[in-house]
Amino acid sequence: GDTTAMSLETTLAIIKPDAVRAGNTGHIIQRITDAGFRLRGMRLMHLTRPQAEGFYAVHRERPFFGELVDFMCSGPVVVMALEKEDAVRAWRDLMGPTNSKDAPKGTIRGDFGTDVGENAVHGSDSPENATTEVAFFFATSELL
Ligand code: ADP
Ligand code: MG
Repeated sequence: GDTTAMSLETTLAIIKPDAVRAGNTGHIIQRITDAGFRLRGMRLMHLTRPQAEGFYAVHRERPFFGELVDFMCSGPVVVMALEKEDAVRAWRDLMGPTNSKDAPKGTIRGDFGTDVGENAVHGSDSPENATTEVAFFFATSELL
């Protein structure tokens, strides 16, 4: 029989304020479902400064930290928990590279992002961080 191990993961995705503002929420969710992710949780919210600072605490010494926090608090975001085999890598592949100007057409950042800061979407960068980031926004009871 088939003994291949299935590695179902859950990753954290955020549709950032630039993409929500531009009316791209629906387009991005369509790409996510077309790519075979299962939505386990989804919420529209406007991040407070403490929430944005806490979520991006790993970047607090970076020169762009203040700008990043201002941006992430500048309007509503959509936070989502996405399940798929190898979800962390699959979602980062679908997003494209950090700088939207380097992101190929067909990737979400390539099609909906503007530059290195306003890049439409967030995705966890490792399974370990995905666990932490999903728990930052969703209680276990909210994950379907
Ligand atoms: P990624 O989101 O691809 O994992 P990083 O974790 O390096 O990228 O950075 C987090 C976020 O900080 C980026 O998505 C982007 O919004 C912002 N950012 C990264 N680098 C810069 C920069 N040089 N100038 C402004 N904003 C930046
Ligand atoms: Mg990152």
